[in-house]
Amino acid sequence: MAENPSPAPAGEHFAEVVVDVAAVRANAAALRERVAPAALMAVVKADAYGHGLLPCARAALEGGATWLGVAQPAEALALRAAGIEAPLLTWLYPPGGDLEPLVRARVDVSVSSQWALEEVVAAARAAGATARVHLKADTGLCRGGASRQEWPDLVRASAKHAAEGAVHVVGVWSHLASSDVPADAANAEQVAAFEEALGVAAAHGVEPEVRHLANSAATLTNPASHYDLVRCGLALYGLTPVPDLAAPADLGLVPAMTLSAFLALVKRVPAGSRVSYGGTYTTRTDTTLGLVPLGYADGVPRSASGSGPVLVAGRRRNVAGRVCMDQFVVDLGSGPDAVAAAAGDRAVLFGPGAAAGRPQEPTAQDWAEAAGTISYEIVSRLGARVPRRWTGERA
Ligand SMILES: *Cc1c(COP(=O)(O)O)cnc(C)c1O
Repeated sequence: MAENPSPAPAGEHFAEVVVDVAAVRANAAALRERVAPAALMAVVKADAYGHGLLPCARAALEGGATWLGVAQPAEALALRAAGIEAPLLTWLYPPGGDLEPLVRARVDVSVSSQWALEEVVAAARAAGATARVHLKADTGLCRGGASRQEWPDLVRASAKHAAEGAVHVVGVWSHLASSDVPADAANAEQVAAFEEALGVAAAHGVEPEVRHLANSAATLTNPASHYDLVRCGLALYGLTPVPDLAAPADLGLVPAMTLSAFLALVKRVPAGSRVSYGGTYTTRTDTTLGLVPLGYADGVPRSASGSGPVLVAGRRRNVAGRVCMDQFVVDLGSGPDAVAAAAGDRAVLFGPGAAAGRPQEPTAQDWAEAAGTISYEIVSRLGARVPRRWTGERA
């Protein structure tokens, strides 16, 4: 990207998210190569962490992912409706939902409990088909999954329904609690608990096609957790799940998303001006302020008030004062250090940064640190009114 990128076409956009799906494709290829012979599931829940469900699912499959994963059934059905036929797992639904369309669409369904198994079996009977299920064991996260006490009964009941043709147990799986802290003893304990769950399944004649445990952090730091399939979300989008240990470039990843906005106003103010709600930032000298037309309604965290980084005309500045609903202010400076910018100029909140040879450019990780959160939240919470654009798509 040029140091001083082009301004907005008049009246068109106030901001834009650009997602480079070539980066998603390359990240998928890098992850797949890292884990082979294990396979890669591209986790594309929550609109591919804000990056766009369909373009990212397609790019991940082109890059070598052979599975897709989503939290919610509606996300799975959206993929099927778009003609994507790859093996696809969905794992989060309360009782009383309609699972029959999932069975008909050959969507794999996670089963953590007896009620879920019964609902899947009923859906399979209604569809006149065999439901594809992945039995989920709770190995220590204490979130989804059957508890150690419930597991033998769930496996036994699943084996019975499998023998009758109602279900096919495609997978046995679990999820890690502390994979972003590779040295945490909980990781090895969960692998051991997963082994135990697999042993119980085998004792009941349940031999799944795929055993899977690892998310992005475990994929990158813990080969003992890879089994037959790894489930990567964050790393697929080029962000690091272990920011204290490695940057994206260290992991062979490139962030795919760039968020920028076009300055809605640039004006001179005197020294001593108090900026934005509550006047929490006071200008020290006569200076120039730039108004960025993005706010917390667009996903810019209010907790990054006074700290979030922005690149304007090749120079890095921080949010001055509070982030508002639709906008925030940056102090462009004065004297020799001033940023030469005009209304309409582009302000980059985050992009691939150093991983793309642009060390000045802030990253989603920088925003996470400024806001006291994780990069997952920065990219997945961008608001619906920010237009998305995709580049790097194959014809
Ligand atoms: C979101 C999610 C993943 C992907 O996690 P990342 O850390 O983004 O790789 C994997 N498995 C489950 C169950 C998830 O909910």
